[in-house]
Amino acid sequence: GMSWQGMHITVAGLGVSGISAARALAGLGASVVVVDGGDSEVLREKAAALESSLEGVRVRLGDGDTLPEGTDLVVTSPGWKPTSPLFAAAAEAGVDVVGDVEIAWRLRGPDAPPWLAVTGTNGKTTTTRMLASILRAAGLRTAAVGNIGTPIIDIVLGEEAYSDLDVLAVELSSYQLHWAPSLRAHSAAVLNLAPDHLDWHGSMEAYAADKGRIYEGNRVACVYNVADKATEDLVREADVEEGCRAIGFTLGTPGPSQLGVVEGILVDRAFVEDRQKNAQELAEVADVNPPAPHNIANALAAAALARAFGVPAKAVRDGLRAFRPDAHRIEHVADVDHVAYVDDSKATNTHAAEASLAAYESIVWIAGGLAKGATFDELVAKSAQRLRGAVLIGADRGLIREALARHAPEVPVVDLDRTDTGAMLAAVQEARALARAGDTVLLAPACASMDMFVNYNKRGDAFAEAVRELRSGDG
Ligand code: ADP
Repeated sequence: GMSWQGMHITVAGLGVSGISAARALAGLGASVVVVDGGDSEVLREKAAALESSLEGVRVRLGDGDTLPEGTDLVVTSPGWKPTSPLFAAAAEAGVDVVGDVEIAWRLRGPDAPPWLAVTGTNGKTTTTRMLASILRAAGLRTAAVGNIGTPIIDIVLGEEAYSDLDVLAVELSSYQLHWAPSLRAHSAAVLNLAPDHLDWHGSMEAYAADKGRIYEGNRVACVYNVADKATEDLVREADVEEGCRAIGFTLGTPGPSQLGVVEGILVDRAFVEDRQKNAQELAEVADVNPPAPHNIANALAAAALARAFGVPAKAVRDGLRAFRPDAHRIEHVADVDHVAYVDDSKATNTHAAEASLAAYESIVWIAGGLAKGATFDELVAKSAQRLRGAVLIGADRGLIREALARHAPEVPVVDLDRTDTGAMLAAVQEARALARAGDTVLLAPACASMDMFVNYNKRGDAFAEAVRELRSGDG
């Protein structure tokens, strides 16, 4: 470990993560300045509350760009781009810039549990929770942390003694990886790589490089997606410990050192206990919840990490059976008139929406929102045959409408030009009018939500609420 006593730390941003970092570091004896470019009434109140509750914390509002005199270390917040002037100033002064994961890594003691780490464009939270469920089924003490739930610094410093845990299941975002240079996982997985957040990273190459950081220094296994060559390339480029293995997962028949699927059974050919056999059966596809193709891939990745940690096959099956998906991730809301209503509000990019559209046969698709620079041609072309109709909402719906006109001209489209609070109910009513018995009305927006909602949770809640109104107002 290192000593924080008397260190001068600058924290970027007076948000949730900035405040959590400031509290933790001041608690360890560091002298903390939180800087923020804003200077609103709300921020001033937050600043006053923070300063009065903790000794050793000061807040500087109205200037998020210049580095306070005497700074030893800068701690970032997720919203801050790598190109922010504050970080340029730090680089110029030879001062390190790190994120919350790096702090948590540096804070861990000698008895700290190993980290099994998960990243990817989509499926991170699901896979991390599946992994935790499998580890628990094996009788291990664990927690799912990182980009989910409790901030990771709070876990490492938390009440529940961190060193009592056997192993951590850690979800990492590309932002967190960008700012975690010394992190060394026991084993790690990159689930997939598709364009997302390019406005933050600057380019696909920079985004991939940040994701690839998760493999650096791995001790036991680097888990990659056989169907996504970019993930395998990252393994090849990584500098790992001697003996660390590349382990692939595939929805097809697994090769040696791979996990895959054979006749409806999840099979492990990488970590085989019985020397007489060349494969170990883990679970059935039906044990995966829901058993959609992308989710079976998530289950295989989670199983690979657990197996790398020595978990027996039976615990993989029990852990997968015990797993329940989080809200707004392909969540079945209700059936109304023999039409299923499914909330995948968490499908905030085209890669995620493609996965959920692939899980159903005949779909009335509710989509739209903020496109974040994405294009929709590929998504629409691949999904066109499954579409009964589409209802478009949100600021960038025109992009999806145009892609539908190009690749699915026969699919009926309702273009909803409204952003008021009743817009989702209107969308659901339009979808109901398009749907026939046996269809699925699927909210998989392929876009961010912030043009109409606070976040994807609220968007999904609005959908569920609208479906409830359909049911109660039947007829
Ligand atoms: P993340 O934490 O990476 O955002 P989640 O597990 O919350 O991922 O899933 C987000 C959405 O991405 C889901 O609602 C689903 O639409 C989609 N998804 C999940 N797993 C995958 C996958 N392996 N490949 C593609 N899309 C996926």
